[in-house]
Amino acid sequence: MASSVFEKPADYRPAREVPVLFSAETIGQRITALASEIRVAMGQEFLIVGLLRGSFVFAADLVRALHRAGCAPQIDFLTLSSYGAAKESSGQVDMHRMMSDSVAGKPVLLVDDILESGRTLEAATVWLRDQGAASVEACVLLDKPTGRTLPIEARFVGFEVPPRFVVGYGLDYAGYYRDLPFIGVLD
Ligand code: 5GP
Ligand code: MG
Repeated sequence: MASSVFEKPADYRPAREVPVLFSAETIGQRITALASEIRVAMGQEFLIVGLLRGSFVFAADLVRALHRAGCAPQIDFLTLSSYGAAKESSGQVDMHRMMSDSVAGKPVLLVDDILESGRTLEAATVWLRDQGAASVEACVLLDKPTGRTLPIEARFVGFEVPPRFVVGYGLDYAGYYRDLPFIGVLD
């Protein structure tokens, strides 16, 4: 057979060999609790801005938990990137795509997969404020505080993680592993 167009990095490991850090069940329980915290702090109506692509799985589960908690948010997405196909951040954040909904005057809940240096949240927060957001709070599934280079914290955090490279539940390595229902460790 001809070689696949899906060329994998030399250190690619099959998903079944990726050690689990947080199981699907653990993540689900944490998201239910997060939704209650958000409902209390933000009320019923706000605009969720998910940062693509990493947050798409988390955002999908979070918005349904928020619905069960009594919230009725608007939902939009913003594409930023800083990693490319490496395991180390390039240190640069590019804003690729703008949003379709209006931000002006709305309380915004930024949703991202993982907060590390803080550059991604910083760039998105500045941009949303420039668009006239009434307020900007952040909710991240994972917080890797050891990697922080900016004084940025997220108001709502799912789990703190050690300084390891994690994949799954939306987080990728070279485009792979986003489909894993759990968070695993790759390094
Ligand atoms: P920051 O801009 O805060 O340094 O990094 C945030 C972004 O870097 C996240 O949205 C995510 O895309 C990426 N990132 C940081 N740590 C990891 C990690 O351990 N695994 C993966 N897959 N992405 C990460
Ligand atoms: Mg990201």
